[in-house]
Amino acid sequence: MNKEWSDKNKKMQALIGKEATFAEGVDVLLDLRNDLLTQISYIVNSYPEEAYYQMPFAGADGYHSKTLAYSMWHIFRIEDIVAHTLIKCDEQVLFAGDWQKKTGSPIITTGNELDGEEIAEFSKKLDVKALFEYCKAVTDSTNKLLRSLSYRDLKRRFSEEDRNRILQTGSVSTNEAAVWLVDYWCEKDIRGLIKMPFSRHWIMHIEAMCRISNKLCQKARKGVDPIARCGLSCNHCFLKEWCGGCRTAYNTCSDACRYPDRTCPNTSCCIEKGFDGCYECDELRECRKGFYEYDDVNAVKAMALFTRRYGKKELLKTMDRLHREYEFEKIQEILGNDLEEGLIILEKHSDGELYI
Ligand code: SF4
Ligand code: SF4
Repeated sequence: MNKEWSDKNKKMQALIGKEATFAEGVDVLLDLRNDLLTQISYIVNSYPEEAYYQMPFAGADGYHSKTLAYSMWHIFRIEDIVAHTLIKCDEQVLFAGDWQKKTGSPIITTGNELDGEEIAEFSKKLDVKALFEYCKAVTDSTNKLLRSLSYRDLKRRFSEEDRNRILQTGSVSTNEAAVWLVDYWCEKDIRGLIKMPFSRHWIMHIEAMCRISNKLCQKARKGVDPIARCGLSCNHCFLKEWCGGCRTAYNTCSDACRYPDRTCPNTSCCIEKGFDGCYECDELRECRKGFYEYDDVNAVKAMALFTRRYGKKELLKTMDRLHREYEFEKIQEILGNDLEEGLIILEKHSDGELYI
């Protein structure tokens, strides 16, 4: 389990268990939920449409066997049902906000009854941007509920009437793969529900989402040129676990993600000029487009200049060598911000005939 999330979860559970620290525990829970929602937001803003219905671990035993879109739907449907129908006895966010229509979902249930290909087919039908808006609306609504709880509420338990109310909404399928959920929730008190649908359930599914997206990126990256048009080596980029490489649809480069079509200015310019990369351009040294607009990434320009002189293979070998020799995340930590000095450092670590 992600250590930061797991630590916050443990801390929250310990704090809400005592009256004196209950309010602090709720703050930690809201903070944890914010971290987790930020992770979903990163996924939603980074990957192409097809990513949300892929099942790279189909048939595996675990939450990672689902799709990204299913995971989002499932986490927030469960939370919506538990927060509104079970605890608050009022209307679910799904119905109040007409989210079934907005998301394009063919179902109102948690999705537990779906299996294999059905999960992929269901996921294809969802409008992921609208789904994320639904996730945020449920989160806001539950956060208000959590803030309104007192320590004494934690021991509140549920009755047969509560159980029947859930079933009457049709929000949980009567299929045996799903219907057990109703008893599972109703056997807990509110403290138990905070632990499962409102915190740990998120962590488990969002970790699975990270695993799914990492796998999709690895698959996308296979056989694709790892040298970015701006000169960066995608194989050595600190984002490599989360990015399929900048020549694939799974490009999560922060510069590309600033644009609606996720095409950065360096890529657009190279395509327009018919270049494989900026290393083929005579204007490279003076260029301030895209990635070159930031002074602290002159290191990337140094890599492009190096590629022009020695080629891509030599750049990859040199980067391997630098990573063996030093511990660093971003290349500017080693090459610095000065273009010429950066180039010299690369040349000193290469096998190529030196120009210096
Ligand atoms: S700035 Fe553009 S070319 Fe460079 S890594 Fe990002 S997406 Fe790729
Ligand atoms: S003008 Fe700049 S962005 Fe365009 S190809 Fe040349 S170096 Fe790259």
